[in-house]
Amino acid sequence: MTELTEPRASISAAEFAEGVRKRLVQRWGVDEAAASPVQIYQAASQLVRDRMAPSWKCSNRRMAEGTTRTVGYLSAEYLLGRQLPNALLDAGMTDQFNEAMRELGFDPDDVIEAEHEPGLGNGGLGRLAACFMDSLASLDLPAIGYGIRYRYGIFEQVFDANGRQSEKPDDWLSAGDAWGYRQTERAQRVAFGGQVTEQGGHRVWHPAWSVQAVPYDYPIPGYASGRINTLRLWQSEALDGFDLQRFNQSDYGGAVQAQVRANTISAILYPEDSNTDGKRLRLEQQYFFVAASLADAIATFYHGQAHPDLSALPDHICFQLNDTHPVIGIAELMRILLDDFGYEWAQAWEITQRTFNYTCHTLLPEALEEWPRSLFAELLPRHMEIIERIDADFVRYLRDEQVDQERIDAMRIITRGEDPTIRMAYLATVGSTKVNGVAQLHSRLLQEVTLRDFHTVYPGKFTNVTNGVTPRRFMRLANPRLSDLITEGLGTDSWVADLSKLSGLEPLADDDGFVARFMHVKDDNKRDFALYAQRRYGFSPDPSTMFDVMVKRLHEYKRQSLKILAVIADYSDIIAGGSDNHRAQPRTVIFGAKAAPGYAMAKLTIQLINNVARVINADPRTDGLLKVYFPANYNISMAEHLIPATDLDEQISQAGKEASGTSNMKFALNGALTVGTLDGANVEIREKVGAENFFAFGLNVDQVHALDAEGYAPMAYYDKDARLRAAIDMVASGAFSHGDRDTYRKLVQDWLKHDQFMVMADFGAYMDAQRRIDQAYRQPDQWARKAILNIARCGSFSSDRAVEDYLTRIWMPGTRR
Ligand SMILES: *Cc1c(COP(=O)(O)O)cnc(C)c1O
Repeated sequence: MTELTEPRASISAAEFAEGVRKRLVQRWGVDEAAASPVQIYQAASQLVRDRMAPSWKCSNRRMAEGTTRTVGYLSAEYLLGRQLPNALLDAGMTDQFNEAMRELGFDPDDVIEAEHEPGLGNGGLGRLAACFMDSLASLDLPAIGYGIRYRYGIFEQVFDANGRQSEKPDDWLSAGDAWGYRQTERAQRVAFGGQVTEQGGHRVWHPAWSVQAVPYDYPIPGYASGRINTLRLWQSEALDGFDLQRFNQSDYGGAVQAQVRANTISAILYPEDSNTDGKRLRLEQQYFFVAASLADAIATFYHGQAHPDLSALPDHICFQLNDTHPVIGIAELMRILLDDFGYEWAQAWEITQRTFNYTCHTLLPEALEEWPRSLFAELLPRHMEIIERIDADFVRYLRDEQVDQERIDAMRIITRGEDPTIRMAYLATVGSTKVNGVAQLHSRLLQEVTLRDFHTVYPGKFTNVTNGVTPRRFMRLANPRLSDLITEGLGTDSWVADLSKLSGLEPLADDDGFVARFMHVKDDNKRDFALYAQRRYGFSPDPSTMFDVMVKRLHEYKRQSLKILAVIADYSDIIAGGSDNHRAQPRTVIFGAKAAPGYAMAKLTIQLINNVARVINADPRTDGLLKVYFPANYNISMAEHLIPATDLDEQISQAGKEASGTSNMKFALNGALTVGTLDGANVEIREKVGAENFFAFGLNVDQVHALDAEGYAPMAYYDKDARLRAAIDMVASGAFSHGDRDTYRKLVQDWLKHDQFMVMADFGAYMDAQRRIDQAYRQPDQWARKAILNIARCGSFSSDRAVEDYLTRIWMPGTRR
């Protein structure tokens, strides 16, 4: 007997269809025969939302009035993915929806796909925030996510005829917003610029201009928990939008000027995922959403109180800073406490430190945000003063602790010298109770390298919480066949809410029947993806080949160039008619990656991959052996289709550069094997699944450091390795640029002369790993067994586990209520 615990609402399919019909008429005056899939999607979403409304209200009240500390998640990004399928699952209405759609004459998949996914994030960091929101609600924890309602999300990627990336705006709201509730009554005013004066012993900020922050509330339903939390995204608007006087004087541009200025703040998501230089608008965005969020939290927990006791604020809410983007919140809370409520500095600082915790997401020094002091002082003069005092107090503390001057200068929040900057990661570290990295290795390197001096001064502040992914979206929704098989194997579907239960699959890895069924599931998923790819992208991968997938943002440290060089080496081998034995394993290599629009090297790599794909796919000698595809616009929806169909997952960043990675977890949980470096959470995945079920290769962190120290010379590897030489020579010869030898010159030069991320050094080990993989793939049942063990042993990579770790290591210790 299989025990089923998945939620199921009492609504029938007929009632669902009727509810959709009613909304179609009310909203657009159409019936189902005249309605488009987008309208059906909107009507169905509205129905689900309406059904959730009573629980949502109840959860909001419990949050505001309950005694449990609320988590305020502050994140500039939320990469949510489509809302309707997730809401249907959590509301227990999936079956009724499917049946209702057919009754209305629609394919349920077409209706689901009519939703334009909200791409309010760049990649891993934004997706992590979305997974945490899902887990907080599913674990029945009071939480509110704060962020920005960008008018345009992450750009839509298109490729031109030469295989180059260009970007189109992501107009995700053009068909209306089916999930966001505008909450005009909760609007907040956010001020900028101006001066600070001294009045009666107090500092008084006289801002030059301000905008209105209007929240849109998105429901975040929990799975089988009954809780619906809120994601509150702020939109920037003019306080009094339209200048009628100017309009009447025929100054039409001037009449809307204030509106345009204000709207710009929440107009667009910055498409970088690291190394964003100091841009004024970005600082405006950060302060805008953080200031609105802090004011909102105080309004929530001290509603209508004339003299609120803000010393209890950290008992009501603790803010988790998702990277440095919201760190200005530390100075803003100080400003509120000092200036608006008259607290003394010492008490204000104590409250502030108890209220904030900081998650660091990087090790790349260039990705640690810094703001030029001049820009900061102009935009936020009062905050600048406050940060100066925090810095001065911190320096005094270090002196008292006998830290030497050189070290103090290295640790200052505000740098010295000609063009001082404010180091936001340092402000976050000083102003928070806890600082965490996002995988064991990353947290260790944070403590030993990136924030070493801080760790020496505050050893107790640092902790680790390894990232996780939600099993609802990335297993149950994305991979229904595997989900059914797991449920059957375990005799219960309770694993969806408790992923540690997957360990019960372990004995089934030795059950021939189960292994065979797993192989069927994978084959069917591959066939599904082939059909989807045909329909959506116009290519048709052969499901009988190994699906070898590398999907993630395009960044040099992630080393897409290592993968494409290996593909070229294999291609070169094939056309040379050479060593046939390894080519016995036909492969389909699939890439997905967006490059930041200003990142020239990343864009050139995209162009190379597209052109390698063009040449290889057109060469009949590769038929049945090797094909390469690069569907444009990698996003959550693509991930949901592709990951369940993957055999081999590529996680090949240079060791010590990927903080954690989360796609590595998604793949392992969907029964793909990983070829990976000992980097980020790969290390923990390998420990869990066993070294024999993970294809590790390449230099480890210590070896990378050692090689750096002795002086890295990439050319030596080119000279030594004929496969590498063949691949690079082919690129340099113009084989992938219609004979033009200049197209990829910058890439080739970089590989041979610079190669910051040691692609050359790892190439040989990577090729050898691929040959071991070919060998392993030759025994499909053995491969499947390894894949099942990956699933069974990766339950701890659920974001539910991660949130529980945050609770015990970071959020709970401060609780006093
Ligand atoms: C999971 C995910 C990411 C993060 O991928 P990494 O390989 O861990 O960097 C980025 N983008 C999308 C669309 C994802 O689903």
